[in-house]
Amino acid sequence: MVTRVLVTGGAGFIGSHYVRTLLTGGFPAWAGAEVTVLDKLAYSGNLANLEPVAGGYAFVQGDICDSELLASLVPGHDVVVNFAAETHVDRSITAADVFALTNVVGTHRLAAACLEAGARLVHVSTDEVYGSIETGSWTEEAPLSPNSPYAAAKAGGDVLALSYARTHGLDVRVTRCGNNYGPYQFPEKVIPLFVTRLLERCPVPLYGDGLNVRDWIHVDDHCRGIQLVAERGAPGEVYHISGATELTNLELTGLLLRALDAGWEMVRRVPDRKGHDRRYSLDDGRLRALGFRPATRFEDGLAATVRWYVDNPAWWKPLRDSLPQA
Ligand code: NAD
Repeated sequence: MVTRVLVTGGAGFIGSHYVRTLLTGGFPAWAGAEVTVLDKLAYSGNLANLEPVAGGYAFVQGDICDSELLASLVPGHDVVVNFAAETHVDRSITAADVFALTNVVGTHRLAAACLEAGARLVHVSTDEVYGSIETGSWTEEAPLSPNSPYAAAKAGGDVLALSYARTHGLDVRVTRCGNNYGPYQFPEKVIPLFVTRLLERCPVPLYGDGLNVRDWIHVDDHCRGIQLVAERGAPGEVYHISGATELTNLELTGLLLRALDAGWEMVRRVPDRKGHDRRYSLDDGRLRALGFRPATRFEDGLAATVRWYVDNPAWWKPLRDSLPQA
């Protein structure tokens, strides 16, 4: 039976990877899926990200906060995979309003529309909802203790979505993942920011002492984890997706400098981000029990990612030029 999938936020970095993979046969159980992409085309949304599969999906420009639009669009879909969000922590520190609207209210309205339409909701979230952890790893039962407005808004969306499972019996599945990297990532996030700046021989800004630790995963592994949860996860359950590659920002910077043949003189130390979480770490045993293993070794994935930005300046230069220059 053909699966009818609505991908919200499908023109962004991770959502577009999911759509490209789905439409090119990467998820065999959903081969031939009918795909609709709903995206507001906020600053990080870009139809060029879907160029390789142009013509293979229906596109609707719109907002997940728009209940009327959702009431007409969600019926007729079996599954909604929600990537739509405001995603940049730094922006949430200076202008959090839109984070509360999209990540909390939008997620809520999407859950309500799924309930009305009888569609399953797969809600994509982040390890940042747990706050910061010195040692060890969070399980899915860890209490939420978000620190940034971004993380707090994501946590609000998560618990609202899950409340629809508990209260109404809606089939909601939540995934929480670490830091993603790969092609088509908006060049304000650390890896594409550093790569594109170094390609133009501009210095890169490193926060604080550089010892903050992040768990890195290739976007393709993240999407395969989401798909496994969509196909075989349990309703009302949360699943961690981890790349099992923890690096300090200093270590990551060293790898990027080496990949781009640049030295440490290209690094400019800048004051730490306000409320900067020290470390994130996920225990992904629940997803591994379903058979998940990240397939991309970090060194290989990073080399391929750097190569992609080297080869695609026409994609990133206009986006970089739209950012305030550091
Ligand atoms: P992104 O910023 O590249 O893409 C977000 C997309 O959502 C954009 O296309 C944007 O136009 C769209 N959007 C924003 N507000 C909208 C609204 N109100 N209605 C409809 N569309 C809207 O972000 P991303 O990195 O692809 O992240 C996707 C999801 O994955 C987010 O929920 C994020 O919290 C989560 N996540 C990201 C990472 C990461 O490292 N990037 C890690 C874990 C989880």
